[in-house]
Amino acid sequence: METWLKEQLTYGAKYFIPSLLKYPVTPKENERLRTLRAKTGGMIHGLCRADDPGKADLLRAAGVNWGRTGIAFPFDADGGVSEDFRRDLERLRRFRESGVKVLVTTPSVGYFLGRGIDPRTPEGEEKTRTVARFIMQQLQGLASGVCICNEIGIPRFGHPLNMDQAVRFLGVQAEAMAPFKGDIIVGYNTVGPQADQHYKMRPWFPYLDYVGFDMYIGCFFPVLTQLGIFALIAKYLWAFTGMPVMLVEFGYLAAGAPKSKAEKKAVLQKYGANSEKEAKAHIEDFLAHFNETGRKYVEKCATKGKANYVFGPDFVNHLYCELPRLVRIKGCPHTQEGQAEFYRRLLPRLEKLPFLAGMFIYTASDDSRCGICGQAECPTETQWGLCTADGTPKKGYYAVQEIWGSAGNQANS
Ligand SMILES: [Zn+2]
Repeated sequence: METWLKEQLTYGAKYFIPSLLKYPVTPKENERLRTLRAKTGGMIHGLCRADDPGKADLLRAAGVNWGRTGIAFPFDADGGVSEDFRRDLERLRRFRESGVKVLVTTPSVGYFLGRGIDPRTPEGEEKTRTVARFIMQQLQGLASGVCICNEIGIPRFGHPLNMDQAVRFLGVQAEAMAPFKGDIIVGYNTVGPQADQHYKMRPWFPYLDYVGFDMYIGCFFPVLTQLGIFALIAKYLWAFTGMPVMLVEFGYLAAGAPKSKAEKKAVLQKYGANSEKEAKAHIEDFLAHFNETGRKYVEKCATKGKANYVFGPDFVNHLYCELPRLVRIKGCPHTQEGQAEFYRRLLPRLEKLPFLAGMFIYTASDDSRCGICGQAECPTETQWGLCTADGTPKKGYYAVQEIWGSAGNQANS
């Protein structure tokens, strides 16, 4: 983890600011962008986790012309094509019929390892190429875009690969897919700027159509909460890579509030401790009272000790099911109206970026339980939806509809 952070800072210092300074003299269009636009037909207005083709009408009504969805690993343990993969292809077929295009996120490294394919070995790399080629061949006529893996340059999704290994894992897949991709656009996504990953990906750019980044502000940390950061990172990426840029994930929490000391103490007591000090001193007991999802997540991520992790910046908001007071964008409180305001302010700004291939809002609907800490009351991974968990549109949905649902966009879809 420390190496990861050090690399972010080192490469960031070396490439982020110089690329931003280069932006004003960088042409706003190039051959790669023209080629991509010819394939996509214009700006992509997308929605993440658009997993259900039965909701295609709801998407189209909001002016959403692309959905993003994951796809299962294609092979069973015995080498046959997996039932889950077949089911996913069928889903894509239904999306295609509905007129909503799809960006498919391919399986991450954990699924390869689970099938005994270690991309760090020569044999594993060869098999990785075979899997990537097969996926691309199967997607023909069904998908319109591919995002190779998801955020593989961060430990949470890339484990156990280091950055060099993760980049090679992406690169060989891009190379294997290239001869078969036809009109399908292919790229990858990073978390924010990740200058090290984009720098190391450069030898593989000839096989790619876009570089992607994911960005959330005002939802996790109390710093860098200005809306202008989205455009800054996009501009840096364009100037740095010369590749069309895709905002593959972004969004805003529609609920979440600070908690009082008494409320926090009540959370600790629920798990058998009277204070943070006591919880830290008996962290195993404390976690034993916690739910299984949260406990497993802590076990996976707490490389520097569980007590530090549970009460550290990655997890503490989850634990207390709160969003501290300063974790927000000014003028956009964490309410349904605040979420709507976020889209009203941001979407027109993004539309003006000439080199932006598209953007995918996170996400289609709320979740009934947090996938990280396992608590139903946790806002952090449950309140991103444009619709509620039962599919009812929220104010954010109508704000997006106001902006994207124009006649121009419908013609685009
Ligand atoms: Zn949570």
